[in-house]
Amino acid sequence: MNQEKITNNKQSKGSCLFCGSELNHTFVDLGMSPPCESYRQPEQLNEMEPFYPLHAYVCEKCFLVQLQEYIRPENIFSDYAYFSSYSQTWLQHAKNYVDTVVERFQLTAQSQVVEIASNDGYLLQYFVAKGIPALGYVLIVH
Ligand SMILES: [Zn+2]
Repeated sequence: MNQEKITNNKQSKGSCLFCGSELNHTFVDLGMSPPCESYRQPEQLNEMEPFYPLHAYVCEKCFLVQLQEYIRPENIFSDYAYFSSYSQTWLQHAKNYVDTVVERFQLTAQSQVVEIASNDGYLLQYFVAKGIPALGYVLIVH
């Protein structure tokens, strides 16, 4: 695996990826973790595995919750295997959620639903099935 590292001052909490403000507030600190979706190959089993901080900050200006970037996204998501639609119980939850919000907010064909980080469309499919326009974004930050 090509693990291109990104220079990050360990003393700095960094800047907000959206507005550039200095990050000062911890949202959750889960310690150190290997990169998600990074599967070890048999020839790597006796090698050290890289761990990076899994420390999410929340921006006090725009409230974006974010991780600092320690490795490039293409080194994490090149062999991405998680799709929300794999879980039948999660799909049922998504369907129930859509039924609830469509009724609560009186959504119609004139509404527009937007989901940020929509994965494989597991949620939006239920809006579309009701004739409600839906748009999903998959985020890759460079
Ligand atoms: Zn911000």
